[in-house]
Amino acid sequence: MKSSISQQESAQLLADEVAGKFPDAKGRFGPFGGRYVPETLIPALDRLEAGIREHLRSTDFQAELTRELTSWVGRPTALSHAARLSAAWGADVWLKREDLAHTGAHKINNAIGQALLAKRLGAKRIIAETGAGQHGVASAAACARIGLPCTVYMGAVDMERQAPNVGRIKLLGAEVVPVTGGDRTLRAAIDEALRDWVSDPIDTYYLIGSAVGPHPYPWLVRELQSVIGREARAQMLAQAGALPDVVFACVGGGSNAIGSFVPFVGDQSVEIVGVEAGGTSSALGRNAATLVYGRPGVLQGSYSLLLQDADGQIQETESVSAGLDYPGVGPEHSLLLWAGRVRYESATDGEALAALAECSRLEGILPAIESAHAFARAKRWAERHPMKRILITLSGRGDKDMSTLQRTLLGDNGGRAQL
Ligand SMILES: *Cc1c(COP(=O)(O)O)cnc(C)c1O
Repeated sequence: MKSSISQQESAQLLADEVAGKFPDAKGRFGPFGGRYVPETLIPALDRLEAGIREHLRSTDFQAELTRELTSWVGRPTALSHAARLSAAWGADVWLKREDLAHTGAHKINNAIGQALLAKRLGAKRIIAETGAGQHGVASAAACARIGLPCTVYMGAVDMERQAPNVGRIKLLGAEVVPVTGGDRTLRAAIDEALRDWVSDPIDTYYLIGSAVGPHPYPWLVRELQSVIGREARAQMLAQAGALPDVVFACVGGGSNAIGSFVPFVGDQSVEIVGVEAGGTSSALGRNAATLVYGRPGVLQGSYSLLLQDADGQIQETESVSAGLDYPGVGPEHSLLLWAGRVRYESATDGEALAALAECSRLEGILPAIESAHAFARAKRWAERHPMKRILITLSGRGDKDMSTLQRTLLGDNGGRAQL
């Protein structure tokens, strides 16, 4: 594939994106996306796509989903004006509070939506993958809520690193299966979940955790997470009396970001910035900034940007935030980058931790380390654009990160405190 496109091509891609034409009939977002999977998975993906087309937009399903989002997830989540951050940055800062959603992050929007869909499609069991454990917790909670058994695949390395979440998943009634092959982290867990699904694609539903994977998953997850941006846009108009000048969200696989961005892509006055994990440096293997440093290729069923070496080998990644530590990214973000609509930047581990401390101290909100990456770049943006309206999606709360924060900011275990 070409490494760049003409201005005319990017203008056409953007016009099609704003018109809602993606994914197209082949499941592509311009050149990205698609289905790069073994033949045996195609019938299952076709069936899933047909099921989504039948149910997702039906008034019946939407009414049930809205009921669950309202009475169980706690939506709409608040839009908070951040008065003290605004004063400190010389800006007008607004926070979309996904940390207030049930189980502490945006992941529940997707988990409950797909679980309700699985039930309508007649699934008898649900499987999911998890890296840091947050999607495992959300899936286990959603399955308990609707009454379907849940199996969560988790890399053996991650199970050790994220022990409290393993316990939460079990308490919520799900089974955790350790994945001991491959890299023993998220990538291996996704491969294992796909293998399970192929062996019984009728009775089993695979509940994927981000806007990644083969078509129709990136589309389905975007549709379920767009509630974030739709609410935030209406809340900005109601509470601030205007659209934001810029929207920031962090990008791992890209689900909270795509859900935050898509309702704003047609608003020409609104700048959009996605923030990836800059890890410890820009060197290969020392970050997880896929859109900033990656090149096009195929990973886990989809053509998108990814972190790879000169021979096309997938790179190890590094980040202080487990939820951003993934070498791939959802295909719609690659399109938005290619079309020039969204700028993607990275924040280092140190910048994210400093931003987390500032938000906690000034706003009384302890953000997830993932979300803090967005704060770090928003602060830099504010320095160059005084007194502008900034909307930041606060994707989740930071309580889950306490063991990392003990070792870093708080300087326990012999480390040096950074506070
Ligand atoms: C999982 C997670 C992310 C990253 O996932 P996306 O699919 O990129 O949204 C970001 N923030 C929090 C709090 C998470 O739990």
